[in-house]
Amino acid sequence: MKTIQDYLNSGAVDIAPLLSLVLKKSNVELITHGDYCLTPTEKQTLSEFIQQRTDGVPFSYISGTKGFYHLDFKVTADTLIPRPETELLIDISLDLFPKDVSCQLLDLGTGSGIIAITLADKKPHWQVMATDYSHAALEVAKSNATTNIEFAQGSWFEAVNSQCFDLIISNPPYIEENDSYLEDLTFEPISALTAGQDGLDEIRIIIDNAPNHLNKNGYLLLEHGYDQQLRIIKLLTKNFTNIQTFQDYNIKDRAILAQIKNA
Ligand code: GLN
Repeated sequence: MKTIQDYLNSGAVDIAPLLSLVLKKSNVELITHGDYCLTPTEKQTLSEFIQQRTDGVPFSYISGTKGFYHLDFKVTADTLIPRPETELLIDISLDLFPKDVSCQLLDLGTGSGIIAITLADKKPHWQVMATDYSHAALEVAKSNATTNIEFAQGSWFEAVNSQCFDLIISNPPYIEENDSYLEDLTFEPISALTAGQDGLDEIRIIIDNAPNHLNKNGYLLLEHGYDQQLRIIKLLTKNFTNIQTFQDYNIKDRAILAQIKNA
């Protein structure tokens, strides 16, 4: 017989959230029901989850969800787990257009759909399109969508034909392919994480092609690595103006916004 309290005392990784997940109880309920004895089925499920977490599987892949901004998203091993710093892209986008102004938005490499879906939910009058190269990721994004979003499969702009937008956003892969930090991320899709030797391969493609897909005065907004900002500004200067840089909540350079130069 094992009680909630016995498990809480075990020191297993993420034991409280795992107990919450299996027993559908809040943190407070875990404490107030500390003498509850788990059923054999609950024990079995919990020990499988404990084993997965001990093996390094991220908690979000076990629970199958991750909160982002004001919504909860389904995530699978086909999608990156949403990072809190990506919420910065939402704040910047919401500030960019006055309240009732409409916007044609493109989210390139949407993954689980967090950027497109969060903005579509906040701005129901915007026209939102989201793409991903991964068919499996797009299926997850579609299942997360609460409002009308156009989804298209393809590599970056190959998915959008000749359409133009007021705002193109991307949180592309940007980690250097030999970065030792990747050792901590082995359960997430590598194609969503790395972009060549300097981490900028995909950002270069996006910056080179965005001018063909931006309306007059349109914006490009990118998430990037903490040490890539100056190199990205260089890539942008040919075709873009009004370049603004942003730091995340850990005071790391994390996003860049640029407006297309009008011909
Ligand atoms: N932000 C991710 C990380 O730091 C990197 C990849 C990405 O989000 N584009 O783990």
